[in-house]
Amino acid sequence: MNLPMKTQASLALPLDLPTALTPVMAQYQRLKDAHPGCLLFFRLGDFYELFHDDALSAAPVLDVALTKREDVPMCGVPVHAYEAYLPKLIRAGFRVAIAEQMEDPDAAKKRGTRVLVDRQVVRIITPGTVTEDSFLEARANNYLAVMALAGGEFGLAWCDLCEGTPYVASASREGLNALLARVNPGELVVPETLREKEDWHEFLRERRDALTLLPQSRFDSANAEARALSQYGVKSLEAFGNFSRAGTAALGVLIDYIALTQKQKVNLNPPQAAAEKSAMAIDAATRRNLELTQTLSGSRKGSLLEAIDITCTSGGARLLADQLCAPLCEVAGIERRLQRVDFFAGQADLRGKIRALLKTCPDLSRALARLALSRGGPRDLAALRAALEVGAQLGTLLDTWAKAKPNADLQALRRELGDYAALAEKLGRALKPDLPILTRDGGFIAAGFSPALDEFITLRDDSKKLIAGLQAKYVAATKIANLRIRHNQVIGYHVEVTPTQADRLLSQPKIFIHRQTLQSGVRFTTTELAGLERKVSEAGDKALALEMEIFAQLCEDVLARNDNLRATCAALASFDVATSLAELAVTRRWCRPRVDDSHAFHIEKGRHPVVEAALALAAAGEAFTANDCNLGAESRLWLVTGPNMAGKSTFLRQNALIAALAQMGSYVPAQAAHLGVVDRLFSRVGAADDLARGRSTFMVEMVETAAILNQASEKSLVILDEIGRGTATFDGLSIAWAAVEYLYHHNRCRALFAAHYHELTALKEQLPALYCATALVREWEGNIIFLHEVKGGVADRSYGIHVAQLAGLPGPVITRATGILQALEKKEGGGKITLSAVQPRDFEKPLR
Ligand code: ATP
Repeated sequence: MNLPMKTQASLALPLDLPTALTPVMAQYQRLKDAHPGCLLFFRLGDFYELFHDDALSAAPVLDVALTKREDVPMCGVPVHAYEAYLPKLIRAGFRVAIAEQMEDPDAAKKRGTRVLVDRQVVRIITPGTVTEDSFLEARANNYLAVMALAGGEFGLAWCDLCEGTPYVASASREGLNALLARVNPGELVVPETLREKEDWHEFLRERRDALTLLPQSRFDSANAEARALSQYGVKSLEAFGNFSRAGTAALGVLIDYIALTQKQKVNLNPPQAAAEKSAMAIDAATRRNLELTQTLSGSRKGSLLEAIDITCTSGGARLLADQLCAPLCEVAGIERRLQRVDFFAGQADLRGKIRALLKTCPDLSRALARLALSRGGPRDLAALRAALEVGAQLGTLLDTWAKAKPNADLQALRRELGDYAALAEKLGRALKPDLPILTRDGGFIAAGFSPALDEFITLRDDSKKLIAGLQAKYVAATKIANLRIRHNQVIGYHVEVTPTQADRLLSQPKIFIHRQTLQSGVRFTTTELAGLERKVSEAGDKALALEMEIFAQLCEDVLARNDNLRATCAALASFDVATSLAELAVTRRWCRPRVDDSHAFHIEKGRHPVVEAALALAAAGEAFTANDCNLGAESRLWLVTGPNMAGKSTFLRQNALIAALAQMGSYVPAQAAHLGVVDRLFSRVGAADDLARGRSTFMVEMVETAAILNQASEKSLVILDEIGRGTATFDGLSIAWAAVEYLYHHNRCRALFAAHYHELTALKEQLPALYCATALVREWEGNIIFLHEVKGGVADRSYGIHVAQLAGLPGPVITRATGILQALEKKEGGGKITLSAVQPRDFEKPLR
């Protein structure tokens, strides 16, 4: 198989490589060879430079100029702006190794004039390990996932590096697909050997943009387990959960890969078992069809997630998305979440205050992650401090409130907010109000925090003032009014005069020592100026070194409480999700669902949250028509017929969405809802060609239907919208007929089946628990009015031609279609439709 592995770009050594490399280029080549498959960002002063093939492939993506030095193609990006460039490369499928200067070039010079600055690769950036805000979406997790095979099953381990908790699950091959659909990793690491297996080609092709292939040797389960044990310093992983051999292998490789790319041991939270059955299984097709987190066209706007996300913090938004992607199956867990939402729904004042506080809370989790990876800057410390401040205020608010109305669950969550008064106070004193992004230039520690630092800064600034005073003194002494003392990076401080005035200074060589003659001016130094410059520079160096020390100390103070802080992040996100869902429940008049282990599915006056919101926004302000749905034992399979555009799909989907919402622990858009836990949710709505995968519309439809008929259990909920539509009428009707029977007798699941094949309603005679419902319309003065009401009964017509007219098909086509329909209806009852039954008609325009 020929996978388009973009990540393999730039592996080859350039053929025209000069035989004798300069020492710098030899160093470059060594680092480049040690990191095959990566673009090498090679630090040269203030730039990351790329050479040879790397430069050729990166320059167009980065949109920077490609240059040449001694026939070597090169391009570069400024170090201070690399964050703006990096996402372009990662999104284009490249991975980037960052080679930093490990010492100050001046320090290297002190070791000898021709000594090379030490450079090392400090980090490899891949789609699943990026921590830069410029790449990451604030409101979505970016998971790195590893898939391993062992003991005949699959293991999946995944982790958002910015949150630091690895999750581990084992699964069957089908389960693996559903799990991957739920996790939706930004990068998926798999064993290279999969490429050789024919039956994995489609799996790899579908995920090619996120794929990283690693040698099989890295997946050795014994080694991987040893890796995991050493990460956590334990003798067995049992304390963390019951992981299968495949799950442990995936976890070990995940830890290994993080260390490999981060070039350091990363402090991770204990792994959490994500049992396959603990979450509602929703396969990729169902997620797509129901538009849970993305619409069919791939945007967040218009999805269920967008409709329900009114969280105030990025961490809350990420948690909400996670919960929606994995609705729970365990009643107690669902109840716990609902209980919290219920509580906040009844406490408008407290809820409002909490939400107002959370709105001011920066992204603690990501700031902490950057600090833990030694990639943080002063602004991350400030964000952390601000978040701690919010946490403290939230704590006080809850404490005051709890005195009057104790609530054990809330108090437990409140304790997770922790107490960081001393740390927050220290950070508050340490940091200036306006902070630079980077640490390296200093200037972020507030005056008064460190007397030693203040002293160096005063010395530096006083000397600068003395230099400024010196200019006035030289102007007076030389009578050159436009004599200036200037500064640049190359020669430092210097006295500058115009060439016509230079003679006056050249005639006093004992005072003015000549440095440079340029067209625009002549430059001198003086002993006094050099002395002051030394003072400025020494004091500046010392101040900077001390600031770095203080910064490192502050980071250490923070990281000493890393574990607590991660729990605080989780608590803040939980408060956000619970109060947001409560706000949603109140403002949109949603109800608390009753969830149990029965097979009930009884929704009273249910609504589709996205369609309802869209209608509310529309200029006409049309109201959404609520509908009931009862898939109880006597009516567990609904056959919904009705004209086009009558609201069948909307009805089907809204019930699936209500199930997902209820099990994620949210209120639901209905007047009342009682549902027995749904173990798997299946939906086949609409049909889409998947030509890239070589499948026709009908093939896609059948593959998805097959998955449902093969997997749905008695506890599942199945939504089938017009299956068998993409083929000849009788083939389609036969398939739909057989599918209904199979669902009824074999799967015995709760199901909603929409169809235009009105013939299917005859099945009611044989299947007592089949219930026929129809989306009502009313005919009025030759027009039809869509009532969007779903009631017991059977539709007599599809009104397809009417909808075609509404869609703007030309009048003659509509008239002609009506005529053909009438002719065909006369022939009803089967049999062939002959040309003679339909009178010919010529659409040619009359000649003018
Ligand atoms: P088709 O058979 O052509 O696929 P359909 O019966 O599945 O049509 P839908 O796509 O569900 O119809 O609905 C068509 C439009 O009707 C929706 O886009 C929405 O604007 C409106 N609609 C659907 N249900 C309702 C409702 N309950 N209340 C108000 N408007 C609705």
